[in-house]
Amino acid sequence: MTLIRADLDSLPAYVPGRAVPGSIKLASNEVPLPPPPAVLAAIAEAAAGANRYPDLAVSALTDRLAKELDVAPERIAVGCGSVSLCQQLVQITCRETSDEVVFAWRSFEAYPIVTQIGAATARTVPLTPDFRHDLDAMAAAVNPATRLILLCSPNNPTGTAITRDELERFLAAVGPDVLVALDEAYFEYVTDPDVPDGLTLLDAHPNLVVLRTFSKAYRLAGLRVGYAVGAPEVTQALRKVCSPFSVSSVAQAGAIAALDNAAELLASCAEVMSERVRVRDALLAAGFTVPPTQANFVWLALGERSNAFAAHCLDRKVVVRPFSPDGVRVTVSSPEENDALLAAATSFAG
Ligand SMILES: *Cc1c(COP(=O)(O)O)cnc(C)c1O
Repeated sequence: MTLIRADLDSLPAYVPGRAVPGSIKLASNEVPLPPPPAVLAAIAEAAAGANRYPDLAVSALTDRLAKELDVAPERIAVGCGSVSLCQQLVQITCRETSDEVVFAWRSFEAYPIVTQIGAATARTVPLTPDFRHDLDAMAAAVNPATRLILLCSPNNPTGTAITRDELERFLAAVGPDVLVALDEAYFEYVTDPDVPDGLTLLDAHPNLVVLRTFSKAYRLAGLRVGYAVGAPEVTQALRKVCSPFSVSSVAQAGAIAALDNAAELLASCAEVMSERVRVRDALLAAGFTVPPTQANFVWLALGERSNAFAAHCLDRKVVVRPFSPDGVRVTVSSPEENDALLAAATSFAG
């Protein structure tokens, strides 16, 4: 009996970072602190109205984001996490199995999954030897079947970011007829002045759409809310294919409260920005290959030793995220948790 699309047999399952009781979890790029009290209060208040459907149009959060980002509300589409928006991007661009989605590899593991769910074809372009997007090769991979390009900056899992010059040259090479999504899930952690705020490129490039999330710096990974900013034509299409009411009332209220408390939330990113330098330096000194990172994680290019390293860390109650056979991604956390990682890493002989 074949009740189910045969092509789903080969769909890779999304592997979440493991939560092991009693261990330090550095596997999902979360912030180890709970949301601030004011955000928790807003969430509790919204929960009291959970018998009612959420605002389908997500009006209050959209208006709030519009003010915050200084863009018109119609240029924003809120989604049930930015992973959901990635899937919606495939849905609004790809229709034939021959339609192609171009992305770097290795990059965010959701990209091949949403491409396949959308029954489109993935065209992956290897990272450069220094773990960056190879934008020249990506531009060269664009062909008449290309419908969507997914750029990830900073790149999950390698931490490298795309500079303004690189991005502008890429957009010029690709031209206006292919939708380019810039996934800025770790935007709040960027310190390199050469890395642009994608929003500043939107006016010149109506085919560019920027993705952001409340899951990382804003500490709301459990509520599932992210957003896209782009041309009204694009964001309207994203809203059309959004599963109705998928952004819950609790998520909408939590996101608004997170914006109200942005100063406190973003201030605590500063510790990660200094810790990521300390962690990387210590790992380099221990002999690991670790590219510079603009995100809240580091990439250890361990190749075939990736799973052994992850098992070694797990034995020492530190959960990291192996992407065998390429490397291991480790979230940069509080100084104490980072010390536990460094202790485990430096005792790895593998
Ligand atoms: C964590 C992450 C997201 C965020 O996903 P949500 O669905 O918003 O939780 C998006 N893109 C990348 C590259 C990420 O690493």
